[in-house]
Amino acid sequence: MTVARTEIAPEIVAAVADVSRIRTRAIDRVAYANDASHYLLTPEAVVVASDAAEVGAILRAATASRTPVTFRSGGTSLSGQSAGSGLLVDVRQGFGRIDVLDGGRRVRSQPGATVRQVNARLARHGHRLGPDPASEAACTIGGVVANNSSGMACGTAENSYRTLESLVVVLASGTVVDTAPDLTRALNPEGDA
Ligand SMILES: Cc1cc2nc3c(=O)[nH]c(=O)nc-3n(C[C@H](O)[C@H](O)[C@H](O)COP(=O)(O)OP(=O)(O)OC[C@H]3O[C@@H](n4cnc5c(N)ncnc54)[C@H](O)[C@@H]3O)c2cc1C
Repeated sequence: MTVARTEIAPEIVAAVADVSRIRTRAIDRVAYANDASHYLLTPEAVVVASDAAEVGAILRAATASRTPVTFRSGGTSLSGQSAGSGLLVDVRQGFGRIDVLDGGRRVRSQPGATVRQVNARLARHGHRLGPDPASEAACTIGGVVANNSSGMACGTAENSYRTLESLVVVLASGTVVDTAPDLTRALNPEGDA
């Protein structure tokens, strides 16, 4: 297999705070060319993003340079969702924080934490996440939410969409939006959001 050399758009390079997190070597790109599906899509470059603001900057730069972007977390998708031939943005490595809230009845997790890691933190409180995909050792909260993952036991009552309270989302424009109720109130004190 030959893997063509690539040139990354200068806008993308400028959007990433540390260029060592931009990977263009063939070995790095091929390592990300598969998910758990039969597709083989070698990205032009891989960027390991550090936080939501940087993801926003990358999306803005991608729009300006007309670069297609695919997000990648655990990479366990079965239909090629987490592989792409443009820019692949790793949103697993830098996004692992987990905060247990309300004695384990709620949890705030960054998208790179695996289902198993979150459940390990909840287990000591006698709770667990609703979605229970069989890939729980490797799949992450970001991938679970984006795929609306379920599992053998959760059915449709406890799947990702039914158990999600709020999200921090990065829009294609690069704007970061937190849908948590507190922020909604802060942005809109009249309360008519
Ligand atoms: C052995 C095995 C068993 C499985 N069992 C189940 C099962 O029981 N139930 C089930 O529903 N699925 C199952 N799956 C499918 C898959 O594991 C799940 O859908 C899983 O939730 C994907 O998570 P991931 O972290 O690997 O996501 P990835 O594959 O990395 O990404 C999934 C999608 O989410 C997007 N994405 C990832 N992170 C983010 C982010 N932070 N922001 C925005 N978009 C993002 C990606 O672009 C992609 O479109 C299984 C897969 C395998 C290999």
